[in-house]
Amino acid sequence: MVDAQLRGRDVVDERVLAAMERVPREFFVPENLRDRAYDDAALPIGDGQTISQPYMVARICEALSLTGPEHVLDVGTGSGYQAAVIAELAEEVDTIERIPELAERARANLEAAGYGRVSVHVGDGSRGLPERAPFDAIAVAAAAPELPRTLYKQLEPRGRLVVPVGRRGMQRLEVIVRSPEGPAVLRSVPCRFVPLLGEEGF
Ligand code: SAM
Repeated sequence: MVDAQLRGRDVVDERVLAAMERVPREFFVPENLRDRAYDDAALPIGDGQTISQPYMVARICEALSLTGPEHVLDVGTGSGYQAAVIAELAEEVDTIERIPELAERARANLEAAGYGRVSVHVGDGSRGLPERAPFDAIAVAAAAPELPRTLYKQLEPRGRLVVPVGRRGMQRLEVIVRSPEGPAVLRSVPCRFVPLLGEEGF
């Protein structure tokens, strides 16, 4: 997966590549799909949701520019896979999911895969996680119609927010840096994520 789908494309951050080599993706997919765990695709995880394509997880993690000591918020826990990859790259990880059953399964997946130190929360992640803010970086694995202002405000100065922004079915991955002049926005690859539902989502 790492050589063919990530290195073979344009993922170059060696820390991200090593993290994705270490996290056992089969722990995060339903049992009947284990033989497809390393496919170049998003896969269903129940409740109408998906575990993201490995390439998109790598792109999001690369865009976070983590070096090790950071506190990160992962919005849209899903299976917990992306939170596990982030836990390989940063000191402290909080993740938030709006569907309680998914959060419960993600907690079990993370524990079984050896990432029990990731804190899983249930709630509307479009509003961030004020009780744990500020964050050095925030990763969103669901598409927002526009820059979620509350998430931006929960960043540390120079912190990074990585979020798919656009309409339903077609977005671009945006990388937003908190700066004194206001949000500095860099645009990355086109992408297609399930919608971020909630107060600052769709
Ligand atoms: N990164 C996840 C993984 O590795 O399995 C996949 C995330 S899946 C593409 C998007 C997730 O975002 C879904 O589980 C969905 O329920 C969740 N979601 C959507 N809106 C949300 C919100 N406002 N707050 C928290 N989670 C939300």
